[in-house]
Amino acid sequence: MTDRIGQIAIVGGGTAGWLSACVLAARHPGLQITLIEAPDIPTIGVGEGTWPTMRETLATIGIPEAEFLTECDAAFKQGSRFDGWVSGAADDSYYHPFTLPPAGDMRDLLAAWAGQDGEQPFAAAMTAQAAVSAANLAPRQRAMPDYAGALNYAYHLDAGKFAALLARHATRRLSVRRIAAKVVAVRGGEAGHIAALELDDGSTLAADLFVDCSGQAALLIDGHCGAEWIDRSDVSFNDRALAVQVPTAPDSTVASVTIGTAHEAGWLWDIALPTRRGIGCVYSARHMTDQRAEQVLRDYVGRAVPGSDAAALTPRLLKFRTGHRARFWQGNCIAIGLSAGFIEPLEASAIVMIELSLRALADALPLRREAMELHASRFNQRFLYRWERIVEFLKLHYALSRRNEPYWLAQRAAETIPQRLAENLRLWAEQPPAPRDFPDFEEIFPAASQQYVLYGMSGAPQDIATTASTPAAAARLAEVRERSRTMLAGLPGNRTYLGALALAPAERRTA
Ligand SMILES: Cc1cc2nc3c(=O)[nH]c(=O)nc-3n(C[C@H](O)[C@H](O)[C@H](O)COP(=O)(O)OP(=O)(O)OC[C@H]3O[C@@H](n4cnc5c(N)ncnc54)[C@H](O)[C@@H]3O)c2cc1C
Repeated sequence: MTDRIGQIAIVGGGTAGWLSACVLAARHPGLQITLIEAPDIPTIGVGEGTWPTMRETLATIGIPEAEFLTECDAAFKQGSRFDGWVSGAADDSYYHPFTLPPAGDMRDLLAAWAGQDGEQPFAAAMTAQAAVSAANLAPRQRAMPDYAGALNYAYHLDAGKFAALLARHATRRLSVRRIAAKVVAVRGGEAGHIAALELDDGSTLAADLFVDCSGQAALLIDGHCGAEWIDRSDVSFNDRALAVQVPTAPDSTVASVTIGTAHEAGWLWDIALPTRRGIGCVYSARHMTDQRAEQVLRDYVGRAVPGSDAAALTPRLLKFRTGHRARFWQGNCIAIGLSAGFIEPLEASAIVMIELSLRALADALPLRREAMELHASRFNQRFLYRWERIVEFLKLHYALSRRNEPYWLAQRAAETIPQRLAENLRLWAEQPPAPRDFPDFEEIFPAASQQYVLYGMSGAPQDIATTASTPAAAARLAEVRERSRTMLAGLPGNRTYLGALALAPAERRTA
């Protein structure tokens, strides 16, 4: 153990562990990084919807986009479509795309939208991404530079293949050392710091900084540091999921969106990859039995995947704790991934939190132990803010629903709505969500995300709907219509794009 930070030990080989290894090694090539993963403790194996931040992450760690897409059976994600969340009626659907609405005063844009003929959904009026996604088109042309798009986008991916690609990349190209062993004990050092890990192969591993990516086990941050857990199940009820993978035909449609379909006590995710659909039923054990959830899942698969044999599927049950740590960084231990916290998979906020944690750590990596406490304090402050915003944004999807099953009524009970969200909803009755409401420099869900959910679920506010539209705002919406036409004509289909990649090995580098 030295005063200078030179050795980093990462515990866990899931998405969090291998992303940590890749980002830290790529950003700080002088560090000695060792990742320890227990071969007999499986990773969670889900987490297949990402955020647009993933493009910068992959570029930073040096994986070509075509290689990533082919190795991870990945596809483009351009946002999330929410079916049945408002009333449960057959035509109840809205879209939260990744591309922002046009620049300009949102009040004027709302007036222009409300003044248009017909019943065009909010997202379709605000961005060409709605039309492009509805047509299952890709957000980019293959000739574009890696990670650039005509529209903002993220990915759907196979979590197992993603961790395997990152592991190969980290060990072969970024000099990360991998140890396949189980951590069986933690040796304490001075001032509550961790000195070393004892492994089940009899060896000991010392390091200066320890990254806890051990998933729900939270081996170091909880087991050793005892960092307090803040339970958020009073606000976010869902604590279980049943997941299946449904093979699809080689010519089947690859959707550009995560489809989230509400059910009586939760919702279902539906993520299309080139070879399969990942489908899961998320629910609250307080409001639905596992048996009923399984029925809801099978019914959905039968309806949504033509030709599938829903009865033959064996769903995997996942139980998760809802909440996050009060401190993510304590002493010389930092928790990243599920060990830091988890709030249900709605809007895919978990992997982006891993990426943002790594960006913050890599941007301000402590050079010496004496500065560690200060770094930890800043980090903890920033990430408590982020978890709070996630809790509020996810709750917004429930707070605006008009469904009336007991679960949905309970979701809207005033005592379950965080105070800041309740205040925002009162403010937003008068004025649109604005950047001043979300002032962090890296908001995961900025004002635009709040607008897409708010107006997607509730329509235009009455007072704005009766305001005359300005010519400038009407012109912006006309530009969106024009851009939609151009992009519909010019962008390739997802299936065409991904199929051509599979046939073009020169575009990817095999790890
Ligand atoms: C139902 C569900 C759906 C989800 N969907 C999404 C989504 O769409 N998008 C998204 O962003 N996120 C999603 N998530 C979250 C996402 O899956 C996780 O954030 C992500 O996979 C990171 O997990 P992890 O690496 O922290 O943990 P894990 O994958 O559980 O990995 C833990 C690792 O720790 C190792 N380990 C444990 N104990 C020891 C020990 N004693 N010694 C050595 N190694 C040990 C294990 O071997 C394993 O390698 C979802 C989560 C759930 C539950």
